[in-house]
Amino acid sequence: MQVIESINEMQSLAMGERTRGRLIGFVPTMGFLHEGHLSLIDLAREKCDLTVVSIFVNPAQFAPNEDFDSYPRDTERDLRLCRERGADIVFMPSRDALFPKDYSTFVTEETLSEGLCGISRPQFFRGVCTVVAKLFNIVRPDVALFGQKDAQQAAVIRKMVADLNFPVDIEVGPTVRESDGLALSSRNAYLSTAQREDARVISQALFTAAKMVEEGQRNVDRLAAEITHLLSQKRRVRVIYVEIVDRDTMRPVRVVNPGRTVIAVAAWVDEVRLIDNVMV
Ligand code: AMP
Repeated sequence: MQVIESINEMQSLAMGERTRGRLIGFVPTMGFLHEGHLSLIDLAREKCDLTVVSIFVNPAQFAPNEDFDSYPRDTERDLRLCRERGADIVFMPSRDALFPKDYSTFVTEETLSEGLCGISRPQFFRGVCTVVAKLFNIVRPDVALFGQKDAQQAAVIRKMVADLNFPVDIEVGPTVRESDGLALSSRNAYLSTAQREDARVISQALFTAAKMVEEGQRNVDRLAAEITHLLSQKRRVRVIYVEIVDRDTMRPVRVVNPGRTVIAVAAWVDEVRLIDNVMV
């Protein structure tokens, strides 16, 4: 496995691989890798000849009051996991290389980014789109892999790729969970034992709603009310949103359209912000 820090080196390697007709699969991450990230490496390896993983904690997607400085980092462990999982290249650019002091160009998706996380994190998707667009220009992937765990992010990236004609296929891998249902997230590292216990309610509430849909419930108010009720039972949990949206447009739906609807939750567990969703 090769570790590349230089943008030029990554770009010329990618161009060389492409001219040789090798398919490049790309997994962008912010590191502190877990099985969710690693499952995307598996998918990339299935689909492509060369798997590139990027590790970059993207300052552009954090607001000044958010957790950029404390975001968990462990490069050595990340590199070991990438190697064990069969990644070919880890691209780890420095902050100054990707976002030098005079940096002034941003990519904004202006529709799907509006709701859900876009309301409480107004700069978030601008930061995500900007860094992903830059990484696509550097890594030149044929296929890029994202997790369903961040359903709105995946939808926004798909839209950016369509709108800006990036020659990249976007593939979305299923959410990987702990045995009790909690969606894996680098931010789970922040949770104390008691917070971790309360955090379980997020996936449990989503699974309860999914079961209601399976049993025929189509009324979105009923589903949202049940989820809010369940979340409110836990002392440390505060709801940021419960949204029932179309999987492509991320717009709220009036009734559940089976196979096309995402139920998404964001909540604070004390000071830790967690998101999760289920497709129903
Ligand atoms: P992050 O490092 O949080 O920016 O995530 C990098 C990629 O991993 C994104 O495409 C995420 O959607 C994906 N990801 C994060 N958590 C999970 C999970 N539990 N299951 C599947 N994919 C995930």
